[in-house]
Amino acid sequence: MTTTTAKPALEVAPFKNERVKDFKDPADAAAMNAALETVKGRLGEHYPLVIGGRKIETEKKIRSVNPAQPQQVVGLTSSASKDEATEAIDAAAQAFTSWRHTTLPERAAYLFKAAQLLRERRFEYDALLVYEVGKSWSEADGDIAEAIDFLEYYAREALRYAQPQPVVPFEGERNELVYIPLGVGAIIPPWNFAGAIMIGMTSAAIVCGNTVVLKPSSDAAVVAAWFVDLLHEIGVPPGVVNFIPGAGSEIGDLIVTHPEIRFISFTGSKEVGLRINELAAKPQPGQKWIKRVVAEMGGKDSIIVAADADLDAAVEGVAVSAFGFQGQKCSACSRAIVEAGVYDEFLEKLKRRVATMTVGDPRDPGNFMGPVVNEGALRSIMRYIERGQSEGRLVAGGRRAREDGYFVEPTVIADVDPKATIAQEEIFGPVLAVIKAMDFEDALAIANNTEFGLTGSLYTSDEQKIARARDEFFVGNLYFNRKSTGAMVGVHPFGGFNMSGTDSKAGGRDYLLLYMQAKSISRKV
Ligand code: NAP
Repeated sequence: MTTTTAKPALEVAPFKNERVKDFKDPADAAAMNAALETVKGRLGEHYPLVIGGRKIETEKKIRSVNPAQPQQVVGLTSSASKDEATEAIDAAAQAFTSWRHTTLPERAAYLFKAAQLLRERRFEYDALLVYEVGKSWSEADGDIAEAIDFLEYYAREALRYAQPQPVVPFEGERNELVYIPLGVGAIIPPWNFAGAIMIGMTSAAIVCGNTVVLKPSSDAAVVAAWFVDLLHEIGVPPGVVNFIPGAGSEIGDLIVTHPEIRFISFTGSKEVGLRINELAAKPQPGQKWIKRVVAEMGGKDSIIVAADADLDAAVEGVAVSAFGFQGQKCSACSRAIVEAGVYDEFLEKLKRRVATMTVGDPRDPGNFMGPVVNEGALRSIMRYIERGQSEGRLVAGGRRAREDGYFVEPTVIADVDPKATIAQEEIFGPVLAVIKAMDFEDALAIANNTEFGLTGSLYTSDEQKIARARDEFFVGNLYFNRKSTGAMVGVHPFGGFNMSGTDSKAGGRDYLLLYMQAKSISRKV
């Protein structure tokens, strides 16, 4: 048995989403400015690997830089070699032998503690995301609020699974069904919800009794280092979460194929997700199980604007969904599909709205958009914009907004063919393709014509169109008369269809089942 310092919390209040700060409140704005200064004082710090509780400095480092000022180093994390990744998996396997015997309520107590500490440090974490991934204040705060929500929600879910599970009574037998952990998992998050997704996937895995190796995104390794420190601070035993930053291209395959790895929880691009799924499917010598892969991947999300829609609301919803966090959300609207009757008016209004969007250093809360995450992303987005100009009519943006960081103007390209490259491939930047549809029937067919199926939204006042879309708009997260981004934990369980992933529904009641297996136990009486 392991020693635990967190007390089981059996009586808890119902889950409530954390309120996102509105920085118009002078006290919150002052706290955020102070946090930006505090975190500035910590820029450039070194962060070691953490394997079995041991901190290990490596010679090779991952440089995390501020995309608004790429010469500014946010932090240097040690970079795990294949040997260190293997050591981390061994340490996780060792820790599993005791962690799996802790109870669900004991483990839930750690998540409640982590949530509380994260709440206390909220502004510092917000500030870190401003520096590390270029989030605006409110985007950063939304990310950390969601991370707190995941901790609170999954802790409560663990308590629910700790209760006796209903089975049909059978005379002469005493029957039960219990949920047990899987084993050692690999947690591989992306950089775009650098707090929420990394913390959500890690906490879900460990609350179920698994131990993990956490390989953060190379673009957001510092926030992961902070969180791993926080877990150790609250007493999560050594080896339960092992921290191994490292280039996915170097250590990814080794982690995924290691025979001791029982499951892989991945969020990121389609290309990497499919590779993981393929590699994980092949049993390795000494492997005793079928690896479970939870892979949440890309999107090419549409908002349909029907001719009967409230056009101002639709313009606002499209603009915010397309350009919030520079379009770098899997749920971002990258295709506006507009019925012909309102197409010109919609475009005119959208152009005016986009012209009001400011781009610049996200430390300044006056800027709506910050930089894209790195130079590779900048180049790829600019290539798509160039391509887009041969596939449609440039209506807004199209250039780098500033040269001192990776800033791109909010870009709108109209009259795009539904099968054009910019209407089909995930760009993951502030680029919106506007597509004209003959009518609603045509709009729905266009909306379903990509290989993805993550989010979608319809603006309409027609109940029949709502009913049709409810049945036929094939996406994991469907919205009516609201933006396509901003899913809330517990309220909008999140995950996509088709090449968007395994539809794990993060932040929903089915999510923890992905990290457990059920054992049916029957006793003759
Ligand atoms: P990515 O390039 O696929 O990277 C995701 C993670 O995979 C990173 O930690 C990366 O490490 C790692 N990785 C790279 N190559 C690997 C390999 N061969 N084996 C194992 N791991 C490997 O994606 P990203 O740029 O971070 O994130 C953006 C993508 O995530 C977009 O496609 C977006 O739509 C998607 N996303 C989806 C959801 C959803 O819920 N569906 C949510 C958020 C984001 P390195 O950083 O070291 O390369």
